[in-house]
Amino acid sequence: MKALLLSEYKHLAVAEIPEPAPGPGEVLVRVAACGICGSDVHGYDGSSGRRIPPIVMGHEAAGTIAALGDGVDSFAVGDRVTFDSTVYCGACGNCRRGDVNLCDHRQVLGVSCGDYRRAGAFAEYVAVPARILYRLPDMLSFAEAAMLEAVSVALHGVALAEILTDSTALVVGAGMIGLLTLQALRAAGCARVFVTDLDYTRLKLARETGDAEVLSSEKDIVPEILQLTGGVGVDVAIEAVGRNETVKASIDSVRKGGTVVLVGNISPEVTLPLQQVVTRQIRLQGSCGSAGEYTQAIALIANGAIQVKPLITAMAPLEDGPRWFERLYAGEPNLMKVILTPGTVS
Ligand SMILES: [Zn+2]
Ligand SMILES: [Zn+2]
Repeated sequence: MKALLLSEYKHLAVAEIPEPAPGPGEVLVRVAACGICGSDVHGYDGSSGRRIPPIVMGHEAAGTIAALGDGVDSFAVGDRVTFDSTVYCGACGNCRRGDVNLCDHRQVLGVSCGDYRRAGAFAEYVAVPARILYRLPDMLSFAEAAMLEAVSVALHGVALAEILTDSTALVVGAGMIGLLTLQALRAAGCARVFVTDLDYTRLKLARETGDAEVLSSEKDIVPEILQLTGGVGVDVAIEAVGRNETVKASIDSVRKGGTVVLVGNISPEVTLPLQQVVTRQIRLQGSCGSAGEYTQAIALIANGAIQVKPLITAMAPLEDGPRWFERLYAGEPNLMKVILTPGTVS
């Protein structure tokens, strides 16, 4: 089969590799669409240490079941499916508690690091355990389905924020996760949502896709947020960047007793304004990936409450993958999600 192989750092090419065989409990999926994730772009040059070559990347995918491994009876060949980006064991304490994102034996598709190597979905076929599959309704396109992972991540952060219908919220960072978090907050009934970013194109998208009140982070947003909320601050801030300034702005923007959900983690460490957090009794809540929000994400896209199409920049055949990776890696402006379509390989 054809696959987009990272044979060495910053070198991607379509290569002929053996088609995987589904093991017991697994299915073989013919991949129709697979999104390029920011983590793939960070892995591409070796900086994250999570895409050690040779590796086929790609974990935001959807397609059709092509074959069933032994013992799989809940799915059939031809079913349209997507799957969790994380392969969880289903048996450890965290999995049994429902926190599958925290599985002790967690593996991410398309990742190779010191501990494991797992082929991803920038390929004609990928083999995945049946327990991580979700069936797709007919009205959902494969391209929309390739966005489900990112939508699930947004829904997970919002679920941890414990939104009430009259809540006010601030989203810090209008990248893919920030923009989807905005829509997830709306779907949760959040009355007012502010979004801040440096990039005006993204702020415009925030206005168009989630009716957000937008603030440029070129200047200090905290006085503006206080002014817009009668001097109180927002109930919840969702931080989707992960730098000193943005974490501090999030903490300073919430009301006393408010919550800051930390999703972004560009910097491995940041300074904590400890007294602010303690004396104003602020809850800091980390959020990692998603824990089964796919079903909810499918329903919200299907009923139109979350729109992913405005966030898709391009769909391209596997052969164009290397060029798109270069453009994303170069940080070309105005690129949101790029989806590769291995099914269209000639
Ligand atoms: Zn991803
Ligand atoms: Zn587990």
